Amino acid sequence: MPYIDYQTMYAIQIRIITVIIAAMKYYIWTSGCQMNVADSRRVASALERLGYDPTRQAENADVIVLNTCVVRQSAENRALGRLSSLRPLKKQRPDLVINLMGCLVGVKDNPKIRKAFPYVDVFSAPSDLKPLIQYLMHSRRPPISDIETKADRIIAESDLTMPKNGKNRSVSAYVSVIHGCSFACTYCIIPYRRGVERSRPICEIEAEVRALAGQGIHEVTLLGQIVDRYGNDIPDGPNLSDLLRAIHPIDGIKRIRFLTSHPHWMTNELIETVAELPKVCEYVEVPIQAGDDDVLKRMKRGYTVDEYVRLICDLREYIPGVSIATDIIVGFPGETEKQFQRTYNLLADLRLDVVHLARYSPRPGTLAYRRMDDDIHESEKMRRFRAIEALQTQISKDIHASYIGRKVEVLVKGKRHDRWKGRTRTNKLVFFETPEDRLGELVSVKINWAGAWSLRGTPFLGMSGEP
Ligand code: SF4
Repeated sequence: MPYIDYQTMYAIQIRIITVIIAAMKYYIWTSGCQMNVADSRRVASALERLGYDPTRQAENADVIVLNTCVVRQSAENRALGRLSSLRPLKKQRPDLVINLMGCLVGVKDNPKIRKAFPYVDVFSAPSDLKPLIQYLMHSRRPPISDIETKADRIIAESDLTMPKNGKNRSVSAYVSVIHGCSFACTYCIIPYRRGVERSRPICEIEAEVRALAGQGIHEVTLLGQIVDRYGNDIPDGPNLSDLLRAIHPIDGIKRIRFLTSHPHWMTNELIETVAELPKVCEYVEVPIQAGDDDVLKRMKRGYTVDEYVRLICDLREYIPGVSIATDIIVGFPGETEKQFQRTYNLLADLRLDVVHLARYSPRPGTLAYRRMDDDIHESEKMRRFRAIEALQTQISKDIHASYIGRKVEVLVKGKRHDRWKGRTRTNKLVFFETPEDRLGELVSVKINWAGAWSLRGTPFLGMSGEP
């Protein structure tokens, strides 16, 4: 028997697997944050490396992955509802493989969820692909040798590959750079479900971005619960500015974004780096959560309103034309009408581009859940929510109206009906019409219509006026 080296043997065995699996389908349901979207991309790539093809109907799938979120009770209810809806399907088709993944499972062993859903085959922590890949490899006949190593290899390769998604070619991708969070905001369940912060090695991230650029990705968004803390857990490690400088020269990448920042950890060095590096877009997501110091203290956010306002001033001074998004929670335990009004007035003053708004949702295990009464009635939470929603809709309309007549650079990401759509460097959604295929291009568009949430315009050949 001629000697066959490991590489060849690995390739032959993977080939055999893919032939056996051919025509088998996978379906991924993703809810929650961009981190889950990034993880679902990796799951899809790994399953395709094993030979599965995507399907948009769960009923047609041989493997179903539910990648879940529990940041609010409503998200958890949606995940539980989706999971319960699969019970009859599993009864009909016992061979169907169901994988429950993400924050509903969490990083710690979760016997409660295992007991509640005995028909789930594989439970996976957030961002952890290994249980599913190993399960599928173990269930294959003829048996595969050295599954541990081969699974690691398939997972490592999945970071570097864009899955087929059946629609337009993807132009942008999310890349996780730091997992988990070591902060402890009193309302937040994320540290309990995603664990403490763990930064990925810079070389691994560089390799992933380079590989994605080679597959037509022109924009990457670097992800972390507090992305500004990238590298903090690596002794003498790089920081986010170093990471931005490392991926900036990669050919094919036209735009770089990062989220989510934290007012306490956003440094002057980072602001200067954004201002200096041409590919890094003038868009920052930095949640304030509330506009009252006492509420911020009880949230354990680690900054004051004045410090936040100073940060916004610095961003606007050092990054001309910067677009800023924030998060607000209304109805936090004990939030008085006066304290809410301070939040409202602050947003009216700062006139930020985007406000992601949420009503306080008590999350089991968090400090607020254990020690503070959820004393703001749901109808009052909704009144406060509606008030800020109306305010921000008007602010957004005004900001968008200021784009009329301006020429902006749009990275074209796809089509909606007969219009091309894309985003400006400041993350504004723009639609325009043209017969040519402009997917993945940077197109200059002259804006002639503005709504609260999007812009419309006509493509033109000259340079854009937007930075
Ligand atoms: S910074 Fe606070 S809100 Fe953000 S993930 Fe960490 S604990 Fe949650």
